[in-house]
Amino acid sequence: MKRFLSIILMTTVLLTGGQTMAKTLNVEQESIAEVAAYAARGNQEGLKKALIKGLDNKVPVNTFKEILVQSYAYCGFPRSLNALSTLMQVVEERGNKDALGKEPSAKPAGNALTYGTENQTKLVGTEVKGKLFDFAPAIDEYLKAHLFGDIFARDNVDWKTRELATIAMLAARDGVESQLDAHINIGKHNGLTDEEVAQIKTIADKTGNDSLLFGFGEENPYGKYFTGKSYLNPITTENGVPMYNVTFEPKCRNNWHIHHKGGQILLVTAGRGWYQAWGEEPRELKAGDVVNIPAEVKHWHGAAKDSWFTHIAVEVPSEGGSNEWLEPVTDEEYNKLK
Ligand code: MN
Repeated sequence: MKRFLSIILMTTVLLTGGQTMAKTLNVEQESIAEVAAYAARGNQEGLKKALIKGLDNKVPVNTFKEILVQSYAYCGFPRSLNALSTLMQVVEERGNKDALGKEPSAKPAGNALTYGTENQTKLVGTEVKGKLFDFAPAIDEYLKAHLFGDIFARDNVDWKTRELATIAMLAARDGVESQLDAHINIGKHNGLTDEEVAQIKTIADKTGNDSLLFGFGEENPYGKYFTGKSYLNPITTENGVPMYNVTFEPKCRNNWHIHHKGGQILLVTAGRGWYQAWGEEPRELKAGDVVNIPAEVKHWHGAAKDSWFTHIAVEVPSEGGSNEWLEPVTDEEYNKLK
């Protein structure tokens, strides 16, 4: 039996070539991450599709209800209420045929601040205190009594699943990096693996694609010059300065290439990615970064391995300008990047 297992494991490693991460989240967990991320973005259309997919995948209505109630702690009442309203509508439209699943048991006896503090300590693995909580004790009390007391005491969704949803919500929001890092640690303390965390972040990231400012577009017709899948949406091509929205899936990058005569300007709008000029160190990119690529410079650009990535490519006008596509960026070069 042991030998049989090791053959299976070896085969998995060989098939994935060590490149693709082992897929460990089940469809139910994937749906919960997707629903949580759409709710956090306030995208009701995306949320509706994700809920339908999740209910088709047999996620109980009450599991989604719990996650969307919990979402108010991370995204505020307005997004939580709108998301719950979308869930209610979807369940009604499906004829109330979906399994409701478990209801939470009765509230624990005693003081919410007391059991909430115990829950928080168990969840995090250590007592939570700090300068900020001395400065503003009210927020410490609300976190303990309300979030980790009232909400986390509801036992029809386990803590690992609640953390999975929290990581997805925070990953879908800007400006909450320290909370995201904290919840990744809490999630891992409650049984999530590094691979699962990476998958949750990728799912959350992807939910941004249907609300991209300049559109997602179609599969890139220049795909043969790319490793992995990318999507192209022409923004404007009429007035001498063509601009395209380009979205790369995680790990996707274009081949080394040169813009002859006219250069190129990249305006990064979403995700995490890379730019590298020949002979130079790779430059990490995030939303808001601008890359000026002079004509005749050999270079590539693309996504980080765990993130979708979107930039606007502005083609600098020139007479007789052209693109010269060269060799792919090898896995060996690319895998050195974080
Ligand atoms: Mn380029």
